[in-house]
Amino acid sequence: MPEVYYFCRNMAVNLTAYRQVLSETDHHHARLVAVSKIKPVSDIMALYEAGQRIFGENYVQELVDKASQLPQDIQWHFIGHLQSNKVKYIAPFVSMIHGVDSAKLLREIGKQAAKQDRVIDCLLQVHIATEETKFGLNGQELYQLLDEAGDLQHVRVAGLMGMASNTDDEAQIRREFAALKDLHAAVKEKYFAGRDDFKELSTGMSGDYKIALEEGSTLVRIGSLLFGARNYV
Ligand SMILES: *Cc1c(COP(=O)(O)O)cnc(C)c1O
Repeated sequence: MPEVYYFCRNMAVNLTAYRQVLSETDHHHARLVAVSKIKPVSDIMALYEAGQRIFGENYVQELVDKASQLPQDIQWHFIGHLQSNKVKYIAPFVSMIHGVDSAKLLREIGKQAAKQDRVIDCLLQVHIATEETKFGLNGQELYQLLDEAGDLQHVRVAGLMGMASNTDDEAQIRREFAALKDLHAAVKEKYFAGRDDFKELSTGMSGDYKIALEEGSTLVRIGSLLFGARNYV
């Protein structure tokens, strides 16, 4: 099939890739988060018109600006690193926050959600890659957070999120996703047995989403494959 591009000024959204990804996520009963960071609202609208409703953004100000210009029925997922003092700006409308990695942040989300009379879905970010980064919990910290978190009425801990190593070694990527899947199952059994609110596993990006889907992903976060490479200025 030829590549079909939707042209909008000089921007392009790859609808062929979009259809392909959707058929794969459907097959695995997973959902697509279209990662639109840095990309203009016209690109988001192009994918919206093709039927996409879940979009992911990494930066608070950018998300607030875009949300105010775009249709109300978009479900915005915040997938970047969130500072506690900025939760209040997105609490009125954000539908899921993927990168929660501290009890402090979880409590602040609960507090701001309460003010809005909302319940916000949160994913706890686990560090699964070999690279050093300051983001994400290790297994022990994850259990500690869940022990401490207690009963948060305005936050729903909906699952886990992780990013695999940036490597060509597919076996390693698969091992990392599989380890997160096992951790998800263990946490579900210990803290969420008999409930169905801890069911999301947010893994997989443009380069590794096929492996992620095979290893139990329920939410793939895909940007460049749909919107083209990001040109940071
Ligand atoms: C940017 C980003 C993505 C999308 O990455 P692509 O490689 O462009 O698909 C996914 N997850 C997170 C957390 C990101 O920051």
